[in-house]
Amino acid sequence: MPADPGTTGVDLDAAVTFGPALAALNAARSVTILCHVQPDADTIGSGLALALVLHRRGIPVWVSFAEPAELPATMRTLPGVRHLVRPVDVPAEVDLLITVDCGSVGRLGALADRLAGARTTLVLDHHRSNTRFGAINVVDASAESTTSLVAGLLDAWQVAIDAEVAHCLYAGLVTDTGSFRWVRPGTHQLAERLLATGIDGAEITRSLMDTHPFDWLPMLSRVLGTARLESAVHGGVGLAYVFVRRGDVAGVRSEEVESVIDIVRTTAEAGVAAVFKESRTIDDRWTVSLRSRDSGPGVRDGVDVSEVATALGGGGHRYAAGYTTHGRLEDVVSALLTVLG
Ligand code: MN
Repeated sequence: MPADPGTTGVDLDAAVTFGPALAALNAARSVTILCHVQPDADTIGSGLALALVLHRRGIPVWVSFAEPAELPATMRTLPGVRHLVRPVDVPAEVDLLITVDCGSVGRLGALADRLAGARTTLVLDHHRSNTRFGAINVVDASAESTTSLVAGLLDAWQVAIDAEVAHCLYAGLVTDTGSFRWVRPGTHQLAERLLATGIDGAEITRSLMDTHPFDWLPMLSRVLGTARLESAVHGGVGLAYVFVRRGDVAGVRSEEVESVIDIVRTTAEAGVAAVFKESRTIDDRWTVSLRSRDSGPGVRDGVDVSEVATALGGGGHRYAAGYTTHGRLEDVVSALLTVLG
């Protein structure tokens, strides 16, 4: 039964329209869905939800991401993982290529070359810094997750959301909202609607966000021991940051490394938090995660870290962003301090 748009809980930006996207989906005889490198549950959940729907309609569909080689373990129980293929198995030519949760071409990594072999391309995303690199762009920076946007797309397409699709959508919703910390009107309504399909929200959240192997604890001890506070940054807003060295993360999953920023960002004396992560394989390559908040001691209007990350070659959201850079650690830190001012 078609969903009533008035009861979905999906409250989209008025400027977002699904017409061209639906026309492309209805016309497609084959579809590739690309998730971003170092995938999270929002990009994978969005990709697999769409793949489940397309597969049921008899459309050949491939879902992939360029790196790393393996899907993070926490996401392997998501429905639809059978549609995931290795990058080498993504066809060179396809009717429709969809990117999910990717703010720029760079987020596709080595799979960016597949854009050229697609008859048309559709960008589905909620990053403020999105560069609109598709032929069709459905970008809603006010959406709390790309899976929320996919829910709105499925409603507009009049496709019912069953438990398998709901599981995928909920995975992105719960992780991108930080377990429903960063919400807006409609977020809980969408969550309720997904939970009403019978999915186990508590178990999905526990496995995605609240379970770490024991090695997480000594890793945290080493990494948090590097913490520094720069109180004068950005007119007194302050920056708290830590370093994750290659030697700190041997045998630790990417999920554990990505959890560090959620601890650093709770620092009361800093409106901005950063984690400098050393590449496991390439010397002097650093991936930097940034977070900010708009209230708190000494924090007035908050810092738009999307702008900061974009200035340093990355992108993201107003309060959560990141970039990759090269150089000696002290130079990488001072580059960030310079941009923050
Ligand atoms: Mn997202």
